[in-house]
Amino acid sequence: MDIDFGWPLPPHLELAPAPRTTHNGNTPCIVTLNDGHRHAGNLLGFDQEASFLEFRPEHTVDNLRISFSKLRSIRLTSPIELKKMALPLTVEAQKNPAIPVKQRCVIFFKDGERLVSETVGHVPREIGLFLFLISAGNSVLRWFIPTQTIASYQIGDKLGKMLIDENIVPADAIEAGLEKQSRLRESKLGDYLQLEHLVTEKQVEMALQKQKSMPRLKLGEALIQENLITNEQLAQALKRQEEDRKLHLGEILIDMGFVTKESIKRILAQKLGIPFVTLPKFQFDLELTKIVPVDIVRKYSVMPLYRTQSRMVVAMEDPLSSEALKALAFCSKLSIDPVMASEIDLVTIIAKFFGGQGERQDIAEFVSKLDGGSGIEASQAANEVITESDNTMVRLVNKIILDAYEQGASDIHIEVMKGNEPTQVRFRKDGIMVAYSDIPANYRNALISRLKIMSRLDISEKRRSQDGKMNFEQFGPAKIELRVVTMPTTEGLEDIVMRILAAPKALSLDALGLSPAVLEGLKKLALKPHGLLFVCGPTGSGKTTTLHSLLSYINTPERKIWTVEDPIEITQKGLRQVQVHAKIDLTFAAVLRSFLRADPDVIMVGETRDPETAKTVIEASLTGHLVFSTLHTNSAVESVVRLLDLGLDPFNFADALLGVLGQRLTRRLCTACRQRYSATAEQVQMLAYEYCLETELRADEIVAHWKKQYGHDGNTLTLCKAVGCEKCDKSGYKGRLGVHELLLNTSAIKKKIHARANVPEILQTAIGEGMRTLKQDGIDKIFQGLTDWEQVRML
Ligand SMILES: [Zn+2]
Repeated sequence: MDIDFGWPLPPHLELAPAPRTTHNGNTPCIVTLNDGHRHAGNLLGFDQEASFLEFRPEHTVDNLRISFSKLRSIRLTSPIELKKMALPLTVEAQKNPAIPVKQRCVIFFKDGERLVSETVGHVPREIGLFLFLISAGNSVLRWFIPTQTIASYQIGDKLGKMLIDENIVPADAIEAGLEKQSRLRESKLGDYLQLEHLVTEKQVEMALQKQKSMPRLKLGEALIQENLITNEQLAQALKRQEEDRKLHLGEILIDMGFVTKESIKRILAQKLGIPFVTLPKFQFDLELTKIVPVDIVRKYSVMPLYRTQSRMVVAMEDPLSSEALKALAFCSKLSIDPVMASEIDLVTIIAKFFGGQGERQDIAEFVSKLDGGSGIEASQAANEVITESDNTMVRLVNKIILDAYEQGASDIHIEVMKGNEPTQVRFRKDGIMVAYSDIPANYRNALISRLKIMSRLDISEKRRSQDGKMNFEQFGPAKIELRVVTMPTTEGLEDIVMRILAAPKALSLDALGLSPAVLEGLKKLALKPHGLLFVCGPTGSGKTTTLHSLLSYINTPERKIWTVEDPIEITQKGLRQVQVHAKIDLTFAAVLRSFLRADPDVIMVGETRDPETAKTVIEASLTGHLVFSTLHTNSAVESVVRLLDLGLDPFNFADALLGVLGQRLTRRLCTACRQRYSATAEQVQMLAYEYCLETELRADEIVAHWKKQYGHDGNTLTLCKAVGCEKCDKSGYKGRLGVHELLLNTSAIKKKIHARANVPEILQTAIGEGMRTLKQDGIDKIFQGLTDWEQVRML
């Protein structure tokens, strides 16, 4: 049977059940022509024999017939899910069982453009190339590129080529590698490149994957190949290993004096492909310094680099030490991939991150030493002059910032008191201020001066508030950016407040705590080829986080994603991010207009707050782009009305809008100490009353539904209350919980927009269409034990 106009599927794969191939009998697609024009619309016919397609652009009634000679590419925009064929493998397939999972593909077009992406298999035909580009999860997008436009293409990797494309090594280094390779026939290209600097997680991952794909070569064989040991020496060493299984062959060979440690390391890197990492430039995952105890780090001279779901990659002095590998696996509960680093680099880095012996001490201990051990002596100590360059001061400031970062604080407040009173340092964690430490008064001036110097502020200016930025990487072992504000208080004193800007990774959509219906709805919207999606809520409701999670969900190589933000708080590889700069007229609207000329697929606009930006985001989404933005409004429905009030054309707006996600952040109950109790009938009634308020829902039906969904034995409902323990600073709450409402722009809502209906009218329609309000989502989360009414009532 023909699937979508005889469109082929990749070898060994078939459609997963419930193929999402058509939408109301339509096949949405984006057609790109050789002249650069791009049209979104529906595919009506695809004639591979006669080399033309039939197509109806959106918002038109005329069908176009486009010859493949004018076509650059066509992309079917509804993703399909593929699975491995259930049929028994053919003899041929058994011989070559490597079913293509994900291959890199590079298409070089005749006009010099190129497409770099990842494809799940490919089908080359005389008329052109069919690709299956990764969309999200298991789904792929189908592309067709006619033969006439392709200069050349490459599916799968050639090592040298790939390294150049990834900018890992410059082209001339590959040339040099090839030259060297021709001289050293027996060595592989990889051997030489192995000695290049590996400094990022991606590079190390690639090197590890390459190592795993290399033919298994044993250490003994490699040493013999290199004439470093003789056959007899190997035999002797193997015999000794039989007696003591715990020892690694390399250790035995060194111990017997047959070979040096340096030679072994060289062979491990060059012949066995164990990656060699240049530590001083590496971006470490600081979380791991908490997982791996300092005594293991020091004992075995190891430095954790980064982790994946199940593995941790660790730089080691001796990657063969089975004892070290066991200890690391034990403390991390992860499997360990060892990579090598030089001894001197390891020592330096370990000192930098873990300090000298005992330096990773508690702040209280640290401060007690500053004070000479007793607070009473502070007044005497105040006479001592402590300068901002004092080594203790440098370490104190670094400690405050690193602790704040590691504890997940968003802000650091330095509050300076008069006279002999100590300076208070407090952190804002999960939105709440918590005490961190008191610093003796005599350190007051030096502390403020040190922070000002680090933020490039004027030390002598004490009467005016100053703004600055600190790039902590220049002073300490972590890439943390801070926005710094000084504030003159009384008697010539100043406070300092620092906002930690580094939130380097976007959360996955699944980690946002969205209820299943909202999560599924959002994912569907995010995969649309064009349209407008807003996230709304007050300041601090996590709008930016959600937008970045949405972007990370669709951040794949075949999409071009532009963002304009103010400020850029989260960075993601693959996005092209632009910072608003109002002084030079780089406003949201201005950047957005430039984006339209810069060939985007997806555009994220940090905030839509003026009519001009609002009109431009609608224009962008109506011309075939997917646009995400935020609004500073209280609810999803209110957003719609607010946008209409900005003077938008209701028909354009109704056409462009996909949906609005409203959200709030509330406090999450501490899972270590929350206490479950049976809800009283009054409590349940009150929650049901609140749930149904301003809706046409019936309280008794809701209660019955809750009992079915959350009740024990289908009857008793339980709730959780805050208690307080060590883990949550005795507050009973730890972390934050998102509460959401997703307004989908259904045809009923469209009609309301056309009619410029008011908030209550649209809200009734939305609830009728299945939307659950913020409060309703919050109440559901109360029954799930995630939060309590104290928090939800404040929404
Ligand atoms: Zn607790």
